[in-house]
Amino acid sequence: MKKIIIIGGGIAGLAAAYRFQRELSEGADMECILLEGNDRFGGKISTEKSDGFVIERGPDSFISQKPAAIQLCKQLGLDDRLTGTNPGAPSTFVYTGGKLVTMPDGLSLMIPTKFLPFALTPLFSMPGKIRMAFDLFIPGKEDDSDESLASFVRRRMGEEALNKMAEPMLAGIYASDPEKMSIRSTFPMFVETERKHRSLILGMLARKKAMLMNAGKRPPTSYSLFMTLKEGLGEMVDAIIKKSPDVQFKSGTKVSSLEKRPDGWHVKLENGWERQADAVIIATPGTITAKILQPIAPDSAEILKGINYVSTATVTLGYKKEGFSHPLDGFGFVVPKKEGRSILACTWTSSKFPHRAPEGYVMLRCYLGGALQEEIAEKDEETLETLVRKDLQEIMGIKETPVFCKVFRNLKSNVQYHVSHSEKIDSVMEDLKNFPGLFLAGSAYRGIGIPDCIQNGNQAAEATLEFLNGKSP
Ligand SMILES: Cc1cc2nc3c(=O)[nH]c(=O)nc-3n(C[C@H](O)[C@H](O)[C@H](O)COP(=O)(O)OP(=O)(O)OC[C@H]3O[C@@H](n4cnc5c(N)ncnc54)[C@H](O)[C@@H]3O)c2cc1C
Repeated sequence: MKKIIIIGGGIAGLAAAYRFQRELSEGADMECILLEGNDRFGGKISTEKSDGFVIERGPDSFISQKPAAIQLCKQLGLDDRLTGTNPGAPSTFVYTGGKLVTMPDGLSLMIPTKFLPFALTPLFSMPGKIRMAFDLFIPGKEDDSDESLASFVRRRMGEEALNKMAEPMLAGIYASDPEKMSIRSTFPMFVETERKHRSLILGMLARKKAMLMNAGKRPPTSYSLFMTLKEGLGEMVDAIIKKSPDVQFKSGTKVSSLEKRPDGWHVKLENGWERQADAVIIATPGTITAKILQPIAPDSAEILKGINYVSTATVTLGYKKEGFSHPLDGFGFVVPKKEGRSILACTWTSSKFPHRAPEGYVMLRCYLGGALQEEIAEKDEETLETLVRKDLQEIMGIKETPVFCKVFRNLKSNVQYHVSHSEKIDSVMEDLKNFPGLFLAGSAYRGIGIPDCIQNGNQAAEATLEFLNGKSP
């Protein structure tokens, strides 16, 4: 019997486990054990339910354009649990110059695709708009080396687009410093668009035209850009475990070391438990994976040690709807660093995902910290609540006392893809070819989003199966 061990029960490790379950249910002669160091599964995904409120500690939705998460939900029988964003309240705001300004219609990931709303928006100054339009004429990049998001946006669209859009919206997704984050590893579609069309605006317009022309040919999609599950993303975690009866899920089992011996891999836990395996998938955060790999693959361990993680915090507040002083007529707002606020972004959760708050209540979720103001996320819970309530009062005019306030600090949790990240990961993957039966999965490598991690977990599982079946390592 072939033995597989997965180390780490975040979504990447769980997706791999579910892939093995499909083999096990067809009678494959193998054993699969998933070892999770924590006392619960899901890693960064963690949903709490309280008095009808659905509160997410970390991720609250996933992008539908990358299909892996939706596909997994369908395989798990969660089709009818999937839910999109409220079509009635799609505006997003940017807090600039002391007020909330609507993001103009047709702005697609900072690239203007509609002339009139862009020309009329008070979000950008006239010189800022003219500079953004220069994108139409600026030549493409000559070499294909990686660069930072800031350098890319400054080059194509100018400083104002960087400060008001790219930094709060795009770097914000990664809780990252735009001067350091790799454009190639985080927004490869921009690099591709520039390569193909030279201008981002022309490229985006061509894409829109192609989509319109293909609209009649493809079945209409019922998915909004961001999707989630009715009772929170924790539903996905619970369903994987429930639908994988032949996988042994073990929580509270922290792996301390991994060794290669003639009979295969030996995984040791902190409590002394030891188990032999033919194949191992390490699906822990990069810094932990580095420690596990250190004695076996020191070169790869060194590279993984260099991957930075920053702290973020989420503060979720519930209020009585009656008499609430703000209409919450949108999905929320982002705050450029220059504005000097504690909050990076605020999601008006009960407007974006109405089922997340019970009847008669509204809920907001604020995001703090990240690479540019990590020290804020590391403050104590009471201070974080005070800072958030002060910002909400000054930005949105909310003076009411919340019915609850839930603070979660995600210390050193958000992985950072700095310039040249993909080259570093390529060399780790090349090095790992020297260790047949050992595979890596998770957010440290080729994408941080939930669909990326699921896809990466699936790929690690497929590679494991090929290895066990004697094909390629
Ligand atoms: C605050 C926050 C908000 C986010 N928001 C979104 C969002 O809205 N949408 C989106 O798509 N993505 C979002 N992300 C990103 C996404 O949630 C993560 O990239 C993804 O969940 C990571 O999954 P993973 O399996 O790679 O790692 P993890 O979830 O980190 O799982 C790794 C697991 O390994 C375990 N482990 C660690 N050490 C050991 C050990 N020695 N032995 C055994 N087990 C061990 C850990 O306990 C953990 O369970 C967010 C991330 C954060 C932090």
